[in-house]
Amino acid sequence: MRDSSPTAKPAVPEPELPEPAQIQTSGPAAFETGGILTIDLAAIVRNWKALARRVVPANCAAVVKADAYGCGVDMVAAALANAGCSTFFVAHLTEARQVRAVAPDAAIYVLNGFAPGSAATFAEINARPVIGSLAEFVEWDAYRTATRWAGGAALHFDTGMNRLGFALAEAPLFTARVKMADHGISLIMSHLACADTPSHALNAKQIAAFRDLRFMFRGTPTSLANSSGIFLGHAAHCDMVRPGAALFGVNPTPATPNLMEHVVTLKTRIVQVREVPRGETVGYGATWTAGRASRIAIVAVGYGDGYPRAASDPKGSIKSEARSGARSGAVALIAGRRCSMVGRVSMDLMAFDVTGLSEDPVRRGAHATLIGDGITVDDIAAWSGTIGYEVLTGLGRRYRREWRR
Ligand SMILES: *Cc1c(COP(=O)(O)O)cnc(C)c1O
Repeated sequence: MRDSSPTAKPAVPEPELPEPAQIQTSGPAAFETGGILTIDLAAIVRNWKALARRVVPANCAAVVKADAYGCGVDMVAAALANAGCSTFFVAHLTEARQVRAVAPDAAIYVLNGFAPGSAATFAEINARPVIGSLAEFVEWDAYRTATRWAGGAALHFDTGMNRLGFALAEAPLFTARVKMADHGISLIMSHLACADTPSHALNAKQIAAFRDLRFMFRGTPTSLANSSGIFLGHAAHCDMVRPGAALFGVNPTPATPNLMEHVVTLKTRIVQVREVPRGETVGYGATWTAGRASRIAIVAVGYGDGYPRAASDPKGSIKSEARSGARSGAVALIAGRRCSMVGRVSMDLMAFDVTGLSEDPVRRGAHATLIGDGITVDDIAAWSGTIGYEVLTGLGRRYRREWRR
């Protein structure tokens, strides 16, 4: 499915691309798609190493659910395993299978737990369920006893998120179990609800509750922190941290500058450049009116490619009324200039104001940068009233994807 050979070049040469030997690609040639999503695997590895250094002596795992936040789970897990990452977290068994294919020796935890009847598949993949209810535990344990499968599992305790996990009051049910030989419980974990808001009172409450659990389960490894949790300091690190978003360049400390390297670049193609007379409108709903004679570049990416439609409107509200000349915050980089989006994001197209740019670089077939060169997934999220996580995971499979090493 993946053409990794250096000879597999796009049919139309892309002059500004790096040497083909440095990249691996997936999907059709660029001109057959709306754009090229480039994923910098070396930056992902540097982000992982920076987080791993920050939490020493704790271990640093990697969360690669949702196709590694849209960055390609097989490529990402292979690169991280190669860099020394030995524990991965995914949401679903099918994702565990993808990680297992490229990381034969890694521990792989499945966050969404143990679906009824899934035991044989867990054993086949050698994946570890993250167990958060007695029904899951009983089924996992029965299969283990019946087959002598020695696979591990994590116990997930709820310390305040109220999403998944055992109640703290259920912890004593397991304290005798973890003193048995071959008990199979390889990790005690919980998840922070407000780690990206360091001042939130729930952080201290969850850290304190988890400290009590660590005491009860002395000798069994423990894990609490996601990306943002790592920046809450040593008390949140425990034995293992579980960063996801920060590996992929999303800012784990939203109140302060991003310490992580950016990972993804999204370039699209100008389909057409048109003149829009003063007083005419652009796009669905006629929400933008040209306040002057304008040149508008139409590019080949829309909400069907994961670019949020909510970025269309000035206040991040799709329902906001049309306002003459009002602009959203959204920009693209065209011919080296930041150009404002005008009108609504369509399914497959968007419009940017290129009035005043010289005609030669702004023409049919030229590139526009939607992410990269100073435009981040967090920027798009801010323009759209959402979070970088949603933008990243939403970018989808419609692009040609290229991975740089
Ligand atoms: C998704 C997830 C993570 C990773 O969170 P980030 O904020 O992306 O670092 C860690 N732990 C659990 C339980 C998760 O669901």
